[in-house]
Formats: sequence, C-alpha cells, structure tokens
Amino acid sequence: MRPIYNFNAGPAVLPSEVLLQIQEELLDLQGTGLSILEISHRSKEYEKINGETQQLLKELLNIPLDYEVLFMQGGASTQFAMVPMNFLLAGSVASYVYSGTWAGKAIAEAQKIGQVAIVASSESSNFRKLPALDNMKVPPGTAYIHLTSNETIAGTQYKNFVDTGSIPLIADMSSDILSRSIDVSDFALIYAGAQKNLGPSGVTVVIARRELLQRISAPIPDIMNYRIHADSRSLYHTPPVFAVYIVNLVLKWIQANGGVRGVENRNRAKADLIYYAIDDSDGFYSGLADRDSRSLMNVTFRTSNEELEKHFLLESERNGFVGLKGHRDAGHLRASIYNGVTYEQCKALKEFMIDFQKRFG
Ligand code: PMP
Repeated sequence: MRPIYNFNAGPAVLPSEVLLQIQEELLDLQGTGLSILEISHRSKEYEKINGETQQLLKELLNIPLDYEVLFMQGGASTQFAMVPMNFLLAGSVASYVYSGTWAGKAIAEAQKIGQVAIVASSESSNFRKLPALDNMKVPPGTAYIHLTSNETIAGTQYKNFVDTGSIPLIADMSSDILSRSIDVSDFALIYAGAQKNLGPSGVTVVIARRELLQRISAPIPDIMNYRIHADSRSLYHTPPVFAVYIVNLVLKWIQANGGVRGVENRNRAKADLIYYAIDDSDGFYSGLADRDSRSLMNVTFRTSNEELEKHFLLESERNGFVGLKGHRDAGHLRASIYNGVTYEQCKALKEFMIDFQKRFG
C-alpha cells in the first residue's frame, strides 16, 4: 500500500496520475509493443520524448529562444564540478553565495578547480536566513556568480534575485525548479536534479544561455563539456531514458493542472497551512528559518525537546506520514512539500500537528 502522506525530501512524491500512466505504459509504450526501458535512445520514439520534454520545459518556464535545455546525468552534485570546470578558467575567479549546506558543497568543488570568492554568506547565523544579494563585493575578473535558490536542508528560499549585469548568474534550483514562475533571462545557467519537483532521480535538467556555452574553451573531457551535450541535443551518449520519460509525464501533468501559475498558487497555500500550525503554536513548534527567508518547499521546524520530537515522528509514522525527519546535518523536523504533494495532504499534516500539540503541549 502506498503511504498516504509522503513528505520525503527527494526522491519525493510523484503525482498518482503519473505513476498510474507509467504502470499502464510500461509494457507497451504508446502502441509500439515495447517498453520505454528497452528501446534505443536513437529511436524515433525516444527522439520524440526528448524533443517534446525540452519543448514542455521551454513553454512552462517561458524559456527565451536563445537558451538550451539539456538532460544530463550525475545529479546536481556533478553540476557542482561541471560549472567551474567549464567556466572557471585560470586567471579568473568564481563568486559564490554561501547560504547553506548545498551552496557549501558547490563551493568546495569549485575550490578544487580554481579561485573562489565568497561574496555573501549567512554562515554566522547558522543559515537561518539567506545572505543579502544587494551588497555583494564581487572581485574583478569574476567569471560567474553562483547561488542556491532553495536550501533544502535549512529550509530557506530566495524570493527575489539580483541583476548581475554582464556577469553570468548561475543557480542551483534543485529543490524549487518549476515550483513558481521565474524570469529565466535573469540567469545564464540553471541546473536542477529532477527528483524533487520534476520526476525521479537520474536526470538533471540544465537550462543555459547558448552564448555562454559557445564561449567554453576549457580543455576538459567531452562528457563534462556543456557545449558537447548541447550540440548533440542531449544525445551525446545514452541518456537516462526512463527518467526523461517520467519528467515528460510530470510536465504534462503540470500543464494540465494550471501550469506554473497553478503550481505556484497551490504551493503557497500548502506552505501557509504548515507555517500556520508552527506560528500559531505559542512556541510549541518553532521554525528553523527566519520568517523572511522561509522556503515554500521545505518547511523545517522543531519541538521544544528531543524526546517530544522522537514521539512526534513515531506518532506521525503511525498515522501514515512519511519523511518528516529532518536531514541528518540539520536534525529536527522537515516537511518537503514539492509539486506532487497535495493541499489535502498538507492540511492533514497541519491537523495532525495541532492535535499533537493539544495532547502534549
Ligand atoms: N543541491 C540541492 C539544493 C539539493 O537539495 C541537492 C540534493 N538534495 C543537491 C544539490 C544534490 O543533488 P544530487 O543528489 O542530485 O547530486
């Protein structure tokens, strides 16, 4: 039996309609008599899925014509290395915003490739809030500025970004891509693992300004070179066909459910429910993130003591709630409420929290 309330941080819940369609088509992909798992990535069937999935992303995110959409492997962690390998050349410096664990991992990888400057940081607040982007001291010779739009572990999310002028802005959007509308033209490159808002793990989406890719001159292996992947329309080598196929279905589901605007409205309403249970609890629950930095995707919170928290987890599991334990680095509690989580499921969590407080508060 499927758990009723899945709040996993990623891989995370997929819409039931999508899971059912995968099941229905698994042995016979759209009348071919073959499974998606056993056809060539050079077949016309996969060519169609590849092209259509790129197109769907372009339409949903309103991606300008001068951008490429790539499907890659290796997760966002590979992007931590690829970004500096492609763009951080000798003599230049990469500027990073240090907003939490994931930004920290991106920084550590870049430091292995070249010179890195931390131009904004909220380490001193233990990442309860996001570093301000409006007074960054960007050193001359900066090749790009990198930020993390949503810190999955701390539960913080940028509401607005910043105009970086001629310096390319690169963003890790692994945990909030397609959860709200953004202006893609603010960014030179966006990357995101699919396993939270877009589909299963195994595929990473990269959206990049073509002109940035054309400039790549770093002597790096082809498999790490964005331009090689762009020139071959993400068919440079065997792509993760099953994962891309599922992303295709998820995007069609988003399209059929009000597009990005619909998703964004639902996500706001969902987050409001759970933050309400925290804010209205007279301190029984407290949020880990400062109010103005709070994420609509990962609601992080705690109870007043460890015993109570253990009990909360135990009882929540008994009641069908899955995935509420916080990340091992941050501890405490976390509800990840990505696109596939429904309003009703968030309402059920809110009610469970209020009831738990009544009994133990
Ligand atoms: N960046 C962010 C913001 C993440 O949340 C994660 C995974 N939780 C990663 C990067 C790493 O992604 P992957 O496991 O796909 O390499």
